[in-house]
Amino acid sequence: MMFQSTRDSRITASAAQAVCRGIAPDGGLYIPTAFPSLELDRLISLQNQPYVRLAEVILQPFFEDWPEGILKACLDRAYGSGRFDVPQLTPTRKLDEGFFVLELWHGPTAAFKDMALQFLPPLLAQSKKLAGDERTTVILTATSGDTGKAALEGFADQPGTRILVFYPSKGVSEIQRRQMVTQSGSNVDVVGIEGNFDDAQTAVKQLFADPVLAEKLAEKNMVFSSANSINFGRLAPQIVYYFKSYLNLISAGEVQPGEPVNFAVPTGNFGNILAGYYAKRMGLPIGKLICASNANHVLSDFFATASYNRNRPFIPTESPSMDILISSNLERLISHLAGPEETQKLMKHLADEGAYILSPEVFNRMRDLFAGGYIGDHQAREVIRRTFKNYHYLLDTHTAVAVGVYEEYLRQTGDPAKTIVLSTASPYKFPSAVLGALGEEGEGEGYQLLKRLSETTGTPIPPSLDKLWEKPIRFERIIPREAIRSYLSDRLSL
Ligand SMILES: *Cc1c(COP(=O)(O)O)cnc(C)c1O
Repeated sequence: MMFQSTRDSRITASAAQAVCRGIAPDGGLYIPTAFPSLELDRLISLQNQPYVRLAEVILQPFFEDWPEGILKACLDRAYGSGRFDVPQLTPTRKLDEGFFVLELWHGPTAAFKDMALQFLPPLLAQSKKLAGDERTTVILTATSGDTGKAALEGFADQPGTRILVFYPSKGVSEIQRRQMVTQSGSNVDVVGIEGNFDDAQTAVKQLFADPVLAEKLAEKNMVFSSANSINFGRLAPQIVYYFKSYLNLISAGEVQPGEPVNFAVPTGNFGNILAGYYAKRMGLPIGKLICASNANHVLSDFFATASYNRNRPFIPTESPSMDILISSNLERLISHLAGPEETQKLMKHLADEGAYILSPEVFNRMRDLFAGGYIGDHQAREVIRRTFKNYHYLLDTHTAVAVGVYEEYLRQTGDPAKTIVLSTASPYKFPSAVLGALGEEGEGEGYQLLKRLSETTGTPIPPSLDKLWEKPIRFERIIPREAIRSYLSDRLSL
């Protein structure tokens, strides 16, 4: 199994190299040069095995050159050590005939990023060993919320790594901030940057681009890395739960083996839904992948018109993890469908003009696989209210976007295929908007909101959030943007 750059098939890497490097030297992303094909019957015979066993069978072909047992050790550390609050890890709930929700938020931070970021740290450690890389990896992350905390939980006390998370002092919720500033672990640092997410992200980008800093790091045998979703090691583990939920529906007698099922995915950086495309390429019977966007609907416009255009205002919404104008992982899909040469041209257009247009041939191929749509905050709140009223099931603001887009897709197409909506966050991560959607008082901060949501709906607070207000605050500091470099030098003793 080899990997190649999305922009140049001559730039190749082993699995371990792809995970260590994250991004290819030409600026492209690593993609597998071929897809392993899995026998559905074999997987069906595993349907009652633990999640880790199923994950091992699905992912092993990508890491086929690894010594026996190493992949399994990574999977055990991620999914087998009691960090998830339900034994099946990713339960699939039935809401109605042919309509299901796959819950991906039972990990330690109550958002689906845990599915990947519990696995990436041990995978990176093993990849470094296999690639002979003995440097300390310094993970730098600017976060608007979910990623920072999930990365902290994943990398805390992971040998050979340091992690520093920078959050905007104006731009994360009280729950998200508290999740981060109470983080345990001896290799972690969390600091607020005065300003909004752009300020924090710009400050971190300057660190990555600073040649003097890179030299100082090298002297100390350290190297920068990021935890963002362009790493193949973050993508791979997301393939597993597509298979898992399909197998669950077979077990429950809801689908026949081989019957195509749709997946609707609340999408931002296009990582989660791309993993669905990979599952399909590996043999999972998927009908349509339905890409759901919020008011920042670059992607659904793209699926409707073949034109990708990021030149538009950024709109902050109540589903902030989908507020993205450049969906990095889309480049992988383009490369699989159009080839590396075409991809390189299109990505140059994107860098120069902020836009590109697919050829009709590639566009048609893409439209066979994907459907797209979007709804705004107001409609998403309506979906939350209606879904709770009709099914007594509580959605978060991101999942609500996918449910709303799926309902619209159904109205327009009448597609009879059974559909699984991927649920990416616990509603308790966004209590103010969810309470508001239910017509309740959503004002106020902190634990009171969680309690009010629980009392109003009769649903339990996830254990990791319930204990949050008992934990001591470890990281109080907020610094101006200009001070980020001296902060880093100080923390790393450069
Ligand atoms: C990250 C995130 C998404 C978007 O996932 P992508 O893989 O970036 O498309 C959706 N919902 C939540 C809650 C997230 O944290």
